[in-house]
Amino acid sequence: MTKLRLAIIGAGPAGIYAADLAVKAEKNFDLSIDLFDRLPAPYGLVRYGVAPDHPRIKGIISALREVLDRGDIRFFGNVNYGTDITLEDLKKHYNAVIFATGSIKDAPLDVPGMDLEGSYGAADFVSWYDGHPDVPREWPLTAKEVAVIGNGNVALDVARILAKHPEDLLPTEIPGNVFDGLATSPVTDVHVFGRRGPAQVKFTPLELRELGEIRDVDMIVHDEDFDYDEASKTAIATNKQVFVIDKVLNQWRAREVGQASRRLHLHFYAKPLEILDDGTGRVGGFRWERTEPDGAGGVRGTGEIREIPVQAVYRAVGYFGSPLVDVPFDERRGVIPNREGQVIDDADEPLNGVYATGWIKRGPVGLIGHTKSDAMETLSHVLSDQGNWWTPEEPAEESVDALLEARGVAFTTVDGWHRLDAHELALGEAVGRTRIKVVPRDEMTTISRAG
Ligand SMILES: Cc1cc2nc3c(=O)[nH]c(=O)nc-3n(C[C@H](O)[C@H](O)[C@H](O)COP(=O)(O)OP(=O)(O)OC[C@H]3O[C@@H](n4cnc5c(N)ncnc54)[C@H](O)[C@@H]3O)c2cc1C
Repeated sequence: MTKLRLAIIGAGPAGIYAADLAVKAEKNFDLSIDLFDRLPAPYGLVRYGVAPDHPRIKGIISALREVLDRGDIRFFGNVNYGTDITLEDLKKHYNAVIFATGSIKDAPLDVPGMDLEGSYGAADFVSWYDGHPDVPREWPLTAKEVAVIGNGNVALDVARILAKHPEDLLPTEIPGNVFDGLATSPVTDVHVFGRRGPAQVKFTPLELRELGEIRDVDMIVHDEDFDYDEASKTAIATNKQVFVIDKVLNQWRAREVGQASRRLHLHFYAKPLEILDDGTGRVGGFRWERTEPDGAGGVRGTGEIREIPVQAVYRAVGYFGSPLVDVPFDERRGVIPNREGQVIDDADEPLNGVYATGWIKRGPVGLIGHTKSDAMETLSHVLSDQGNWWTPEEPAEESVDALLEARGVAFTTVDGWHRLDAHELALGEAVGRTRIKVVPRDEMTTISRAG
């Protein structure tokens, strides 16, 4: 009987689902899986992307944890593919590898002023408020008026976290430095800009509705944005999501505002033109062009230019994958080029033994659940490609531990995650909170390896 020694790089949902599905798949060979992540803790963007005030989604961690707790998948945290372990190493110890490295960076936005001080990527801010160990502990929250560019759920997450009073985030797992940072914020107005109309947004009704429930924050929408064209009317009549979004927005139009100390403004039909300099190299304003429906579901510019004073701009225009050493990369799409998860080279030929799944396979769109169907597709190729697997020189499981130890890599394990998890819960319990995340990497690693 053959044995498949499978390495999976990335312990976000895509990597964990792929491992789980591989274990459960019908197969006529034995299987052993090692799951690597550059971070000391598993779960990828579920831990470091999903907003802290979305406990139901964060709860997916419990299901992912059950997979790791079963004991048939080994987890090696704090191991960076490309430096701590290379493709050459993987070929020596495994039959195949699945890359599930996701995305953590912001897609660029090509407007003048992007590099001014006070212009930020949403992904960096998300990493900060979700306690990612590799970003600075401090975030400059000095702006009273802020612009958020984008009309997807990440834009709404960023706008919500900026607008919320920090005390209302205390029931969540936010780290101390994040609470302290948010508590200094003098923000009064958060403006969200989308280039199209309310019937073409990318965010979902649940995320939108939540904005209207934030304590002491008025929702401001503008009547001029609701003069719908035929394409928008059709979308509202035929698409349940769009119908609900329109309904929620119209409820806000009818609300009385003016009492709250903070406001969250939604501006539609606004194409970003420029982030304005205040004269000292800092963000001083935001300029946009009013657009209008083009009759086909899109928009065109009207030539009408508007601007408002803001002291910070966050672009939430999507995430973008990062290239991996010795692995092909599509610079335009920010993904590993592949056919149904089978990685292909420059000549469009399959690279034996190399697969991809999750956001690094199909781009940074879609919910956690999508990574499961994705993993299924990739895995079907891994399992049926037996004739093309690598032939490792050192297939024994212990050889991987020995390799990492010899290199001085302080790797963490599933037991280590249990220790860190228990530590974070205890930190929370001590002050009447559910959990407080540990942020510094060395502290995470020390606690995890203390067993
Ligand atoms: C801000 C934000 C909010 C979101 N909110 C929701 C939500 O509410 N509901 C929902 O369903 N979905 C949400 N999503 C989407 C969800 O997070 C993704 O669908 C999902 O995380 C993608 O999974 P993945 O495993 O492909 O990537 P990731 O979750 O990014 O996991 C990739 C893993 O690979 C690791 N890695 C990267 N490079 C290396 C390397 N060189 N070596 C070793 N390891 C490496 C990373 O550390 C990470 O742990 C949100 C996404 C974002 C960005």
